[in-house]
Amino acid sequence: MARIVQLLKAKEPVELTDQVLAPVNDGEVLVRIEACALGQLDWNLLTLDAPPRLPLTPGHEAVGVIQAVGRHTRLRPGERVFVTPLSSCCQVCAWCRSGEWRRCADAKWRGMHGDGALGTHVVTHENGLVPLEIPVGMPDLPEPLPLPLAASLALVGGSLWTAVGAVRSLHLVQSSRVAVFGVGGVGHLVVQVARALGHKVFADDADPERVNLAQELGAAPLEGNVDAAVVCTPSTQALQRAVRMLVPGGRLALTGSSPTGRIDLSVAELVWRGLTITGGLLGARGDLDEGLSLLLSGRVKATVELISLDDVPARLWALRDLGFPGRLVALPR
Ligand SMILES: [Zn+2]
Repeated sequence: MARIVQLLKAKEPVELTDQVLAPVNDGEVLVRIEACALGQLDWNLLTLDAPPRLPLTPGHEAVGVIQAVGRHTRLRPGERVFVTPLSSCCQVCAWCRSGEWRRCADAKWRGMHGDGALGTHVVTHENGLVPLEIPVGMPDLPEPLPLPLAASLALVGGSLWTAVGAVRSLHLVQSSRVAVFGVGGVGHLVVQVARALGHKVFADDADPERVNLAQELGAAPLEGNVDAAVVCTPSTQALQRAVRMLVPGGRLALTGSSPTGRIDLSVAELVWRGLTITGGLLGARGDLDEGLSLLLSGRVKATVELISLDDVPARLWALRDLGFPGRLVALPR
């Protein structure tokens, strides 16, 4: 049996349900979840007027151990894996072969096209899983995995992957000035990744608690112009400020997937100022490895609040307010 968080009806609260485990088909694996993070992406999905599927299980970034495999799988029972926001991709197109699975035309996203990981177990295609491989020279993980470490690792295949991908997409020279707007689940990691890569980081958020977190993590208050900005909030106001702060030739990376955020920028301004705007969730395959190395070496620390699976239905509503610093992480144990 598995305990799974499900949205059974649109606009209703989620419920914790007991389910018989689904059969593991060809190419699929059964993962026992050790920790699963909850974020804005989950909230957006759960509050749609017409959810893409019902029942819907949220949870797009998690860590767990494979318990069973179907036929024709490369993953094996006992392997620890990151459950990423991708629930599958084709694996054969040029994007997939270069490790840029997120750009695959056949990419399917967890929660929208396949079950999320918010529960004790998930049955999922192995294409959306990444084995946790300890970087060369680093010690093996303690077993059983301590809960705070499990919670931090849950972010590697989602928020931290996105944070590294966003900073790397800016192609910055050493000691650049980087502004981070929105210091939530992804933003607080962007602050640390950019600092770890040798940049001077400035940060802002509408929430004073998050501003404090950014400063504790080494970011300065926004000041002057910047070479690049990473916007991790749906706020149109933040987007406009980011554009205004950029130097000529400045670069802007966007990680929020809000349908309401807008950038008001004429083509003439874009051309004459020579700006570059990139958007994307996740990163290239190597960006995930880099995120794991940064986390295990202690150069990046995830701010997480641990909750039990039973607390999820009540605590999910906290996501609506956007005010929580860091990430909520549910632990099935
Ligand atoms: Zn592909």
